[in-house]
Amino acid sequence: MSTEKRADLNLRIARLPIVDQCEGCQRIVEDAGAKVCGKYAEPAFHWEDGQICLMATHIKKEVTIVKKAVNPLKASKRAAGKKK
Ligand code: SF4
Repeated sequence: MSTEKRADLNLRIARLPIVDQCEGCQRIVEDAGAKVCGKYAEPAFHWEDGQICLMATHIKKEVTIVKKAVNPLKASKRAAGKKK
């Protein structure tokens, strides 16, 4: 799709106002006096059911790494089995 077609399509899409969770995001733009999302047409959808918007710039996502306990005896047997 060409850039002109995409820009024309963006103009025709009705953008809904942002929700409270969006406050502080850098993707917020002003459109006819209302704050809308520059990325998504319906911001509320991206915050439904406790979700966190994937494109939010104001939220740091925490990744928790769970270390799995490894039995050293089983690990050595597993490693020995792979050497074939
Ligand atoms: S990118 Fe996500 S958090 Fe930012 S304004 Fe749009 S919907 Fe809201």
